[in-house]
Amino acid sequence: MTEHKGVLIIGEIIEENLAAVTLELLGCGRTLADKLGERLSGLLMGSDTRPHASKAIAYGADKIYIMEDPLLEDYQSDLYLAAVEKMVRRVMPKIVLMGQTPMGRDLAPRLGFRMHAAVLMDCVELDIDTQTGRLLQVRPVYGGNARAVFTSETRPQMATVRSKAMSPLERNSSRKGDIIEIKPEIDPSAMRTKLLEKVKEEVAGIKIEDAAILVTGGRGIGGPEGFEQLEDLAGLLKGAVGATRPVVDSGWCPTSRQIGLTGKVVAPDLYIAVALSGSSQHMAGCSGAKHIVAINSDPQANIFREASFGIVGDWKKALPSFIEKVRELLKE
Ligand SMILES: Cc1cc2nc3c(=O)[nH]c(=O)nc-3n(C[C@H](O)[C@H](O)[C@H](O)COP(=O)(O)OP(=O)(O)OC[C@H]3O[C@@H](n4cnc5c(N)ncnc54)[C@H](O)[C@@H]3O)c2cc1C
Repeated sequence: MTEHKGVLIIGEIIEENLAAVTLELLGCGRTLADKLGERLSGLLMGSDTRPHASKAIAYGADKIYIMEDPLLEDYQSDLYLAAVEKMVRRVMPKIVLMGQTPMGRDLAPRLGFRMHAAVLMDCVELDIDTQTGRLLQVRPVYGGNARAVFTSETRPQMATVRSKAMSPLERNSSRKGDIIEIKPEIDPSAMRTKLLEKVKEEVAGIKIEDAAILVTGGRGIGGPEGFEQLEDLAGLLKGAVGATRPVVDSGWCPTSRQIGLTGKVVAPDLYIAVALSGSSQHMAGCSGAKHIVAINSDPQANIFREASFGIVGDWKKALPSFIEKVRELLKE
């Protein structure tokens, strides 16, 4: 029987940078590899991957495989699948990790099928069972109301990991590792789909996933006009405005601002939740926030169970004085 060894992460390069989730995977992969007493390797594909490989080593990898070809510049299912399958069969890792990104969502199940291996999607925590050496894969279930722990019988054990669920290690540029170039041997005729155009999402100001301070509005805001006040507060705090799903469904805010199970996952330092109830599906996207401040007229609202500070009252009365106070403090 083939011996599976080590942890392999499939990295992503987005806009000429290692994706944030790749750094998080490296941090988590490092912990898992150390617990197993094995090595952490990574795979980077694209047209100019070498500088990113050194960075990946500084963030925890022992070894980075690079596959370079202009056809790998952008994610393409058929070519990436062939390249990753080749790599996995060569390395025979015990564990394969990808981000829960558009690429990971598409590639992981395809790779699982090719390898006859189970894939756990959207994990928020990973660990090693010290008794069996198996990967413990934790993911939200029942719409985010509970968490379940899974293990796989098959090898490699494969998982995709939700962004912001884990933290990267501190960059350590003195870390040593190997960079190994592998010829991808691309067969362009394998491509069944072609990328025709890339349209960049227009975001005014800071993206919600990058903001250290978020002001998020819920259905209780009552309409798009109310969001102007939330924009004022976010502007003063150099933050961004987020929204719950009903707000987005009502067209008061663009989809790019939705936070939650079916929206984005954020982990800001400060999360100001205005007139939102704090449903489990919403909290699935913001429970990583360091501090939550809530404004809600219902003292029983679930958000008060999650918040460190809260105002029970009408946001239309509370928010203007809140904004006034912030203005005053900023002047001091
Ligand atoms: C599969 C699935 C996925 C989902 N994914 C998401 C997701 O990604 N993100 C998400 O947000 N939701 C998601 N939902 C929806 C989720 O279940 C909730 O319905 C939603 O989060 C509720 O949004 P809300 O808090 O804005 O609205 P509500 O639950 O209606 O809460 C409005 C709150 O505003 C308060 N309020 C009203 N008026 C005022 C006032 N004048 N001043 C102060 N407070 C006031 C009320 O007391 C209430 O607590 C999903 C649901 C399902 C089934």
